[in-house]
Amino acid sequence: MERVYIGLGSNLSEPQRQLRSALTAMDKIPSSCLLRCSSFYSSTPIGPSGQPDYVNAVAELNTSLSPIELLDQLQSIEAAHGRERSVRWGARTLDLDILLFGERQIDDVRLQVPHPRMAERNFVLLPLAELEPQLQLPNGDPLQQLLQNCPQNRLNKI
Ligand code: ATP
Ligand code: MG
Ligand code: MG
Repeated sequence: MERVYIGLGSNLSEPQRQLRSALTAMDKIPSSCLLRCSSFYSSTPIGPSGQPDYVNAVAELNTSLSPIELLDQLQSIEAAHGRERSVRWGARTLDLDILLFGERQIDDVRLQVPHPRMAERNFVLLPLAELEPQLQLPNGDPLQQLLQNCPQNRLNKI
């Protein structure tokens, strides 16, 4: 079993409902166990302007799936929630990103872990720190240090 952290995000079609439904679906991923989820946070959109605010959270999972098998599962949950990929970082019903997969460092065309942009996103780091304040990344960076250096974009606990 590996400990995995998943970043959840939505800014369309009742975002909180999308996240709750995603958690129900993630609880049914084979060979895996959903352990905890952070509070939900409302955040300022990154990417194209004029989008609605996001709701973000981080979930903790144990899994014996391979990283690519888990990505396949998450992408099918995104698809089942009407996720369309048209504009990069555009508005979406559901985004499920693998933030950390145990201590692994993965650089595959389909999957980079740790998530390459997590250090610049307080909507990822803060909910992650809520679950695991003393976490260190596989390269040894303490999560608290990343948080201190991260842009302080608007982020409110819901
Ligand atoms: P960002 O990755 O900056 O948060 P995004 O989540 O909007 O952007 P997506 O459209 O959801 O990007 O995913 C684009 C591709 O990213 C996916 O098809 C997937 O293969 C790839 N990808 C690479 N690393 C990861 C990861 N750690 N978690 C999820 N998808 C990843
Ligand atoms: Mg994303
Ligand atoms: Mg994504």
